[in-house]
Amino acid sequence: MRAKPSRPPGAGSGAASHGAPDHEDRVEIAPPDLEPWRAGNTGIPYCYSFDSGRPGPHAMINALTHGNELSGAIAVDRLLREGVRPAKGRLSLGFANIAAFRRFNPQAPRRSRFVHQDFNRVWAPAMLETATRSTELDRAREMRPLIDTVDMLLDLHSMQMPDAPLILAGPLAKGRVLAEAIGTPALVVLDAGHEEGIRLRDYGGFGDPASPKAAALLEAGQHWSAGSVDVALATCRAFLDALGLVPAAQPPRPPQRVLEVTRVLTIRSDSFRFVRDFDGLESIPEAGTIIAYDGDDPVATPYDDCVLVMPSRRLVRGQTAVRLARDVP
Ligand SMILES: [Zn+2]
Repeated sequence: MRAKPSRPPGAGSGAASHGAPDHEDRVEIAPPDLEPWRAGNTGIPYCYSFDSGRPGPHAMINALTHGNELSGAIAVDRLLREGVRPAKGRLSLGFANIAAFRRFNPQAPRRSRFVHQDFNRVWAPAMLETATRSTELDRAREMRPLIDTVDMLLDLHSMQMPDAPLILAGPLAKGRVLAEAIGTPALVVLDAGHEEGIRLRDYGGFGDPASPKAAALLEAGQHWSAGSVDVALATCRAFLDALGLVPAAQPPRPPQRVLEVTRVLTIRSDSFRFVRDFDGLESIPEAGTIIAYDGDDPVATPYDDCVLVMPSRRLVRGQTAVRLARDVP
């Protein structure tokens, strides 16, 4: 039902996307009680850090970059309740957009993605250093001193559609290396950022090819699906094992498929529509196949076997409609 033209283009996005509930808004999981973690132990509310006292990387697992993406919050809550501690290096665990999370309403689960603006678009230093205030900018500034000390970041997300879980590994070789070290989920997408703003994953050293810091963004499956919790938790454990912070036997896993995004299709008009419903990961055999219209302009695939990654249902000017990708051997 995504991309149906009956949803008026420009009707809203993010916190303002109030479409009628449909099957994509089915909520199978409940928000965890995060109040026990309010104080944190870092001076930053809802942020914890545990230092092993031994040399090693500072790894962080971050949940709730988007306030309504519950699977990551459930996974991090679980790790905290288990009393996870690193055998080497330092481990930080955080819940980012708590203010949006607190507004989660299973009757309108899309509304609590953020409060004022997308927390995952505010990470340009020039933006963080302005005097402009918003719920998300304030929280990013609060977390920034901790983030600045992180070497390896796993940022936990979920997605609109029931697409296969994947890691968005970014455009840099080190992102792919980290994703392949984690080893799960089975799909790795090498992507550039968004045009609208810098993501946490691309902030500072994470997005600097000369820095050894690296970050991976997990899309754990569809928002609010029970399976997304399993994927988030398994990926957290694989991440901690891969870095040697919390060694644990990992189940056998198939080799990952790696897709390289060659183009992020940003919506230019107020009337973008796909020619049909795409679920994601469709491979379009022939170059030049029209997949959408942006206003009057046809959007064609640039090469044979073009793969559509995470087509959006929020078809709003300035936002990402779909990513075009090809298989990397
Ligand atoms: Zn997200």
